[in-house]
Amino acid sequence: MHTLPMGRIKKNRGRRDERQGPLQWTPVQQSCECVIEWGWDPQHTPPQAFIEWCLAMIDAPCVWHGADTGLDIPLDQETVSLTVPQGRLRARRAKGDRCELGVELTRQATDMREKTRLDDVAGLLMDIPAKYQRIMKSRGFDPVQTWVEMRLADIFLNLGRATLTDEMLERLPENLPEPGAPW
Ligand SMILES: [Zn+2]
Repeated sequence: MHTLPMGRIKKNRGRRDERQGPLQWTPVQQSCECVIEWGWDPQHTPPQAFIEWCLAMIDAPCVWHGADTGLDIPLDQETVSLTVPQGRLRARRAKGDRCELGVELTRQATDMREKTRLDDVAGLLMDIPAKYQRIMKSRGFDPVQTWVEMRLADIFLNLGRATLTDEMLERLPENLPEPGAPW
């Protein structure tokens, strides 16, 4: 049995679910290789907590394959409701092209996490547009940290779609002169 890193999961007791808002779903490939859709309610689970949950799930087996949920989950049960410190979550197996999406999102997140773990600032900076770096620095932010946070949010909250597109970045006013431009 593997222990989920976010603490022991308690069984969700029915009725509270009725107060749950509409769920958003994010597919993640877990360590047993299953792609699991995690459903979360943004009104009850802070987005940052959900991102951390998804990152933790990459290293954990799914609830059907050895996660220590404290529940006896039959293999044919389609959806599992869990109450964890991050809030109430649901798990179900991804189907069809959502499987491919989950594999791709997990690949992107793993790549980002490896670079962060190795403190591969040069590798990360190569991914970050120069204009973004200048704007963040001019505003007193660490461009690497804000980039990593934005990309993880794009991956897990926005299903891989970029919230800051190249076109948007192009239109952003720049407070600093371009390098080499006359003052
Ligand atoms: Zn599994």
